[in-house]
Amino acid sequence: MISDAIKSIDWAGTAYCLTGHICKVYFREPARKGLEGLHYRVKNHSVIELSPRVVNPDAMLMLFLHECGHARLHFDDLKIHQSEPQPLSRPKHSEGHWQSPKITMREDDAERLARKWYKFCRPQTTLEGKHRVLRSYYDV
Ligand SMILES: [Zn+2]
Repeated sequence: MISDAIKSIDWAGTAYCLTGHICKVYFREPARKGLEGLHYRVKNHSVIELSPRVVNPDAMLMLFLHECGHARLHFDDLKIHQSEPQPLSRPKHSEGHWQSPKITMREDDAERLARKWYKFCRPQTTLEGKHRVLRSYYDV
């Protein structure tokens, strides 16, 4: 179950500030089985799905930032879906998928950016505070 503290935050607003484009953020099981978080492109916006199985607010934030990393770095290269697939409607990726150099590089790049963002907001003690400073990350 997603806590009220998590639900009360404007995650999509933070995602917009970090990625520069519209991101819909859902707390539901991702379309792809076997994952806690997923990012994909529908038309001209991003969809970020975060599993409600993740209960720790900091773990949820890290997962969110990782998916925002994909949204910022890889949006232009992604396949364009016309609609959102149903939760758990896609089979689990094979082991080989995660070992492909292209995927490994993408995962590393998204994680590196997520850690940079996280480091920036970490001094804030509350989840609201972390989101507030994240929204100012790219301000001049
Ligand atoms: Zn990833």
